[in-house]
Amino acid sequence: MRKLLFESLFRRPLTERAPLPDEAGVTELATALGRAARRRLGRSLSIREIDAGSCNGCELEIHAINNAYYDVERFGLRFVASPRHADVLMVTGPVTRNMREALLRTYHATPDPKWVVAVGDCGRDGGCFAGSYAVVGGVSQVVPVDLHIPGCPPPPATILQGLLALLDRTAKSTAST
Ligand code: SF4
Repeated sequence: MRKLLFESLFRRPLTERAPLPDEAGVTELATALGRAARRRLGRSLSIREIDAGSCNGCELEIHAINNAYYDVERFGLRFVASPRHADVLMVTGPVTRNMREALLRTYHATPDPKWVVAVGDCGRDGGCFAGSYAVVGGVSQVVPVDLHIPGCPPPPATILQGLLALLDRTAKSTAST
């Protein structure tokens, strides 16, 4: 025991150092996203997150958007508790049979106009859970999906890029109608 304690004083940690975050890049992205939301909606973008059966890896990255480092609320991006207050439903995971009904009800409880963003490879087609007896499939098997953000899991900057692309695309399609 003493030997172990002694070794731990001098041994280098087995974990890798986290990559340095790109603060300028994230600030630029989040600022552009906040501006796009105000142009498109006249206010902040409200997001309701739904875990439809994920392993929680995607949730960790989505939660990071709100942590003290990314803190995207300062740019006008809010996570809301009720679908009735949401513009975007951000859905993770393969949709499990148990969550199918809950996802449908949440979708119908969200006022129009609304957008559904499927986050992660599981949200696209079930990912590594595809074919399981407990899984219906990707999010689009249950509700219409406007955007898919790939990755397993996608990092916060990729999620912000995806949301920005969604707002840009919907603004262009509104302008052309
Ligand atoms: S995409 Fe990856 S991280 Fe996200 S729910 Fe699926 S397995 Fe987990």
